Formats: sequence, C-alpha cells, structure tokens
Amino acid sequence: MRAVVTGGAGFLGSHLCERLVAEGWHVLCLDSMLTGATANVAGLRQHERFRLESYDVTRPMEIEGDVDWVLHLASPASPKDYLDHPIETLQVGSLGTFNCLDLARWKEAGFLFASTSEVYGDPKVHPQPESYWGNVNPIGPRSVYDEPKRFSEAAAMAYQRAHGVPVKVMRIFNTYGPRMRRRDGRAVPNFIDQALAGAPLTVHGDGSQTRSLCYVDDLVEGIWRFLNAEGTGPMNLGNPHEVTVLELAKLIADLAGSGSEIVFTDRPIDDPELRCPDISLAREALGWEPHVTLEEGLARTLEWARGAWT
Ligand code: UDP
Repeated sequence: MRAVVTGGAGFLGSHLCERLVAEGWHVLCLDSMLTGATANVAGLRQHERFRLESYDVTRPMEIEGDVDWVLHLASPASPKDYLDHPIETLQVGSLGTFNCLDLARWKEAGFLFASTSEVYGDPKVHPQPESYWGNVNPIGPRSVYDEPKRFSEAAAMAYQRAHGVPVKVMRIFNTYGPRMRRRDGRAVPNFIDQALAGAPLTVHGDGSQTRSLCYVDDLVEGIWRFLNAEGTGPMNLGNPHEVTVLELAKLIADLAGSGSEIVFTDRPIDDPELRCPDISLAREALGWEPHVTLEEGLARTLEWARGAWT
C-alpha cells in the first residue's frame, strides 16, 4: 500500500507516518513546513519506504506511481497558529483539499480527511455526536479554521457522490503528546512549558471551560482502524474523559512538581465552553476506545518535553 500524507511532518502526521511505515506501507510525506518540521520525521528519513518532500499542497500535485490513499492532514491546528496564518489555513482547507481530492480521483485512491471537533463550534449539544450540525460563527476569528474544515467535509462528500472517490472523514478532538511545538499556544504545551520553567500557568477565563484530551498513540490507533474499516463517517475520534481547563493546569503543575501558581488571563473570542466527543460510533464500528489515562499521557509528554525542550 502507498499513501500520500499531507502535513506528515506535523505533530499528528509524523506519528501517523511512523505507524503506516511500521505496518509495511510506503509513505510519501508532503509538508509545507509552515508548522511542521523535518525533525518530527527524523526517525523515518533513512527508511526505504518513506520519502519526505517539502511541498505546499495548495499547488496541484503531480505524483508518479500508484497511490492507494491520500491522507489530508495538512493545516495549522492550534488556535495561535491559525490566527497567525489565517489565509494559509483557509487555502490549505480549500485549494489544498481540492488538490488532494483530484489526486485521489486521478490515482483511483481513497481520501481520508482530518476534520475536527471545531466543526461543532461552541456546541449546544453535549457530548457531541456526529449527527450534530454544530454552532459555528462563520465570521469570527476561529472561522478561518472551522469553515475550511466544514467546507472540506462537504467537498469530500461531493467527490464521493459525483466521482465515486472512496472517502473517509474523521473528526479529531483535542490530541496531545510528544512533538507538540513548545510555543504552539495550546493548553498542554503552554502549561508544560510554564510548569517546567517554574512560571505561572496562564488559564484563560476562570478555567471552567472543558476539553477532552486524547493521547496521540490512542488517536493513531483509531485512525489506523478507521482506515481499515468500512464506512465514510464522519467519525469522532477522541477521548471522552472531560476535564476543566483549570483541572488540566493543576494536574500538569502537580505532575511536573513545579509548584507553579495559576494566573487567570483573558479568554479568546468564541473559545468553546464545553467539548467532549460521543464516541459510540467508533466503539461500535472500530472496536476502538482510548486507553491511555490523562495522568499517564501527560507524564509521558512531560518526560519527552524535559528532554526535547530543555
Ligand atoms: N487555554 C488556556 N491557557 C493557555 C492555552 C489555552 O487556558 O495557555 C485554554 C483555551 O482558552 C481553551 C483550552 O485551554 O479553553 C484549550 O485550548 P487549546 O488551544 O489547547 O485548544 P482548543 O480546544 O481551543 O482548540
């Protein structure tokens, strides 16, 4: 099997490339390196079934040889990154998606799209099942991420209907683990960075907003099973263990043993109040659920960050 993985040098993409190569696949990894890094795939660079190309998929792709799957993960993914790169984020989730779909159609390959829990916006249904259509502000700052993800889901479904491209849409909830960038602005790397420096942990608002965090190895297992299963989705992939942001900050401070205090700062515009995946479909269709507890996953991530960041 041969996959083209866009965003393959990013946090999640690099873990997925490793899994595909370990499963015996050939992988062509394309990454614009806007938020990805060659260091993330350093362990794969010498592998004969892995190839990395620095390439922006908003340009059409002319790829030699057979392709079985186009896995479209490319996009800035942290709120800080997509607010810093709003146009690039809109482009990779529109022009980039069309280019990936055209490649899949040309190669008679399947298309897997990395959608997101952000398609649910600030949800009015909790936990969120795939049947929920969401509550997204189409003109707010986060729309540069949410809307292209929604648009890409629509484009994928249209290519399946109009051209028979086999499509799979996964909606990925908050995921964390080794290879997150130290300054990508997300809660987990921020709190770890601050705790390791003995600096105050910056909780936005009063910290009562919730997130449900999935360790990256569990997520990759879910993606692998989804790839090998029947069905288009959309399929929620995430860990339904929900915590408040304040609980998350306190847990990271405790695990780091830093004695850092908590400071309360401004809340970003349209920051979702609650987020938790309903993973009934993944449990039933894939026999999948996460196994790594938040304590264990954060401990592993802290250990990695101690080595990689300091
Ligand atoms: N957050 C925070 N302090 C930080 C970074 C993030 O309190 O230093 C909050 C953020 O406002 C949100 C939650 O943590 O409520 C998760 O944010 P993140 O950027 O990790 O991901 P999101 O789920 O918003 O995409």
